[in-house]
Amino acid sequence: MLRLELIEKFGGSCWKNECGEDDPDRLEFAHVLDTPVMGWGRGRNKRYYDVLKNPDCYALFCKYHHKEYDDYVKDIQEKRQELFNK
Ligand SMILES: [Zn+2]
Repeated sequence: MLRLELIEKFGGSCWKNECGEDDPDRLEFAHVLDTPVMGWGRGRNKRYYDVLKNPDCYALFCKYHHKEYDDYVKDIQEKRQELFNK
């Protein structure tokens, strides 16, 4: 299965150093750089093919650290908005 192969390729556990979560059911691919798949629906399988095609644009995180990462990015975007897009 594509998802499990990808998790293996990505080292098999959460990239947050101290985390160590390696249960595939709790691991997710986080978008860390834009790829064209953003914005067009992101069906599950399309997403995995995108991970396969653009591994540089993704990181492997557990659900918890994925959310932490997304919140962090959101804070940065809000700050940028506040500074430059008034
Ligand atoms: Zn984690």
